[in-house]
Amino acid sequence: MKIDRRKFLGAIGCVAAIGAAQILNAAGELNVMRGRTYVAACPPVKASIPRTGGAYRIMVIGAHPDDADIICGCTAAKLVKKGCRVKFVAACNGDIGHHIHSREKTAAIRRQETLNAAKVLGLDSYDIYGWGDARCPNTIEAREFVARKIQEFEPDIIMTHRDCDYHVDHRTVGTLVKDCGYMLGCPHWIEGSKPLRRRPLILLMSDIFTVPRVMRPDILINADPYIGKWADALDCQVSQFYEWLAWDKGVEDEVAAIGDRKRNIAKRNAYLMKYWGSRKVNDAKRFADAWREQYPGRAVPNALEAFEISEYGRPPVEEDFALLMED
Ligand SMILES: [Zn+2]
Repeated sequence: MKIDRRKFLGAIGCVAAIGAAQILNAAGELNVMRGRTYVAACPPVKASIPRTGGAYRIMVIGAHPDDADIICGCTAAKLVKKGCRVKFVAACNGDIGHHIHSREKTAAIRRQETLNAAKVLGLDSYDIYGWGDARCPNTIEAREFVARKIQEFEPDIIMTHRDCDYHVDHRTVGTLVKDCGYMLGCPHWIEGSKPLRRRPLILLMSDIFTVPRVMRPDILINADPYIGKWADALDCQVSQFYEWLAWDKGVEDEVAAIGDRKRNIAKRNAYLMKYWGSRKVNDAKRFADAWREQYPGRAVPNALEAFEISEYGRPPVEEDFALLMED
């Protein structure tokens, strides 16, 4: 077959153009930070667009009343200790997460338990948007509802789910947040809402899934100093970790073996680590090389929390890395 030279060169030009586009943001600028180039849909932060001021604000938007705690509890404890305002969100109310109680009763219990967990972690608040489990809608109305909530809190950083995840609510919530990303700064998107002059950095929380690809560990946070606080927060959610999920996993005998949880803290923590902390330990193993790159000379921790920088928020700035990674 004879190759048309002009078409061939045109095809190469296309590939080159795509390559160039991948390292330029919408404003046509390079986002290079700590030796890496970040693709970002939103414009980079400029000195002419300062932060709103006050404490750094972090919003962890999970699907259910335990996702933010399980996945980001250590990071939240660290950021609260550093003076940040941290808000957790559960888009759904957790109502199908029990094998005995009615949906209404479960939702009411979960609400109280999240309030208790919020106190332990020192959160600003733990909001529940109230959609039923497995019913989080991916609609224009839901997207605009989430956008208003983000615009009200004015977060510097949002943490949420990736799109590839086993649970439909996780996927939907991750999609809703990322679909808000660029438009959060558009004055005429949602009439009467407050556009964000400085859009948030969006971080995607760690998960175990491999299709279409494993998450990229852009930012790793040592969880070891905060595991105790994390376990105390999970301990507040009795109906979840000691009832529903224990029944679902068939490990109620292990819960019984803990005995008095307030006295047998080590046994309690071992149980919580075995089933919900093991991901942090696995992440420390699978992302050990990334850790050594990000923290040269520092030993790989036993447990860590990993985040991928979403390409749909603003690009990261040095301040973000310093806040998240420094002790
Ligand atoms: Zn969930």
